[in-house]
Amino acid sequence: MAYLLPWLVRRLEEALDLLLPPRCAGCGRPGAWWCAACAQAVAPIQPPVCFACGAPWDREGPCPGCREDPPALDGIRSCCLYAGPIRRALHQIKFHGRFAVAQALASLMAEGWSRFSLEADLVLPAPAAPARQRERGYNQAALLARAMAARLGLPLEETALRRIRGAPSQVGLSRAARRENVREAFQADPQRVDGRRVVVVDDVCTTGATLEACAAALYRAGARSVWGFTLARTPRWV
Ligand SMILES: [Zn+2]
Ligand SMILES: [Zn+2]
Repeated sequence: MAYLLPWLVRRLEEALDLLLPPRCAGCGRPGAWWCAACAQAVAPIQPPVCFACGAPWDREGPCPGCREDPPALDGIRSCCLYAGPIRRALHQIKFHGRFAVAQALASLMAEGWSRFSLEADLVLPAPAAPARQRERGYNQAALLARAMAARLGLPLEETALRRIRGAPSQVGLSRAARRENVREAFQADPQRVDGRRVVVVDDVCTTGATLEACAAALYRAGARSVWGFTLARTPRWV
């Protein structure tokens, strides 16, 4: 019975999204789930970027952060900076589901996907910690990945990568501490990822530690390449 309740709440919220007059997830103004002013205020990340971490970088070779400590996966690309209306909209998705908002933001992701000429045999959402997903009800990475994959016609596998260990909150931890925190937290299904080019989708890239931990599990399961692709990123590595 207990597991039915979050499911019911989700279905009700989906229904409400259709019934309620839409309010912009970025600024709260009525009229649309994502208004023209907020769409305009998004700061897209444009090439040239660091080939490793995807941060804006217009010189030869990796950015200073990656020269010192390169990310442990093929590369990361993010569509825009984690700021302003995007920050508020992601908060809406995280705590209220808001399928309509995920749909609107998926168009930003589809644009980013083409801008960086990404390719994939398989797209996977970064899995949420099971306990956290139960209490909150949503995996915002899955909502975004689903909407984006549908828009771009990409093959999506939501269960090929699982979180096998919860992790304490990452908030306030250094890059090294975050890495340690999520090491061995994921497991991938070799039958579905072996020999394939995989892209892991997440909402925000902060240090890249979660994407790296996902990638480690995918490489162990035989993935040919693993890229991280996020809607937003914090302005710089911490
Ligand atoms: Zn707005
Ligand atoms: Zn870099």
